[in-house]
Amino acid sequence: MPCNVTPSTPEVFEQLIDSAPLLFFSVGCDLTYTYINPFFAEVHNIDQQKAVGMHMSEVIGEEGFNNNLPHYKKVLQGESIRYDSFFVKADGNPHHYHAVYKPLYENGDIIGFTGVVVDITAEKQLEELSNTDALTKVNNRRKYETDLQKVLEKDDAERYGLILLDIDFFKLINDELGHDKGDDALVRLSTVLKEVVADSGKIYRIGGEEFVVILDNVIDQENLEQRTETIRQAVESYNILDDRKVTVSIGASVIVSGDEKRGLVKRVDEALYKAKESGRNRSHFV
Ligand code: GH3
Ligand code: MG
Ligand code: MG
Repeated sequence: MPCNVTPSTPEVFEQLIDSAPLLFFSVGCDLTYTYINPFFAEVHNIDQQKAVGMHMSEVIGEEGFNNNLPHYKKVLQGESIRYDSFFVKADGNPHHYHAVYKPLYENGDIIGFTGVVVDITAEKQLEELSNTDALTKVNNRRKYETDLQKVLEKDDAERYGLILLDIDFFKLINDELGHDKGDDALVRLSTVLKEVVADSGKIYRIGGEEFVVILDNVIDQENLEQRTETIRQAVESYNILDDRKVTVSIGASVIVSGDEKRGLVKRVDEALYKAKESGRNRSHFV
């Protein structure tokens, strides 16, 4: 039996593509498929031969197609592109993928493009898990460290505010009502913070009963003060625990040009300390 097969024959490439756990496809300028590989057929639950001639929207769904249309247009204008994207599957779970598209030429004219799509859902889920606090499902300390560093490196870092919140007398809540009620309070506090902060900032649990909000679009000190007070009051008036009022003390600061992490965090820590010292359930600004 001969064992000296030339490795680069079309048959070898075909076999490689047929066995790869990756989605390969090509489409014409009219965005109908001219080829899909077996794995593509399996993932989209269609017959490999029948897919040829079908429009992309029929196979990947109208929503996915419309979201990706700007990418398809770019590649049909001659750009090679790669990007990460996701869609929500019929079962409600997100599907993340990395896509690489390249134009196909014939006699110098673009006649369509090729695509390779890699499923990166597991990778994204792991990344999300490593950045999320298990109890409250807000961002964790690890994410806080990286996000704060990113904000400080931005040209418009002055447009952000750092807010540090600490539950008042949390030890008493644990001691008198039990650790489970304490946990409930942490979860409910996260819920209030999500409601009141919404998409105007990001929330982190950075320690036992310490939370941080990095606020976006902070216009000036007064704006930060108003928005911080709104958060504190929302916590105060929310029914976090049936058995008692739960409040937070807050230290906050607008980020200033040239701020470094250590100095900024120290400043906000000291502000929190002052808020505690002067009676709790209040905000102190620096
Ligand atoms: P202060 O008003 O000065 O902030 O007082 P405090 O009692 O809130 O502060 P202290 O730092 O003494 O107490 C924090 C408590 O948080 C101590 C610890 O038992 C509790 N704790 C830390 N992590 C958790 C957690 O994950 N769940 C619960 N239930 N308690 C936690
Ligand atoms: Mg504390
Ligand atoms: Mg506390």
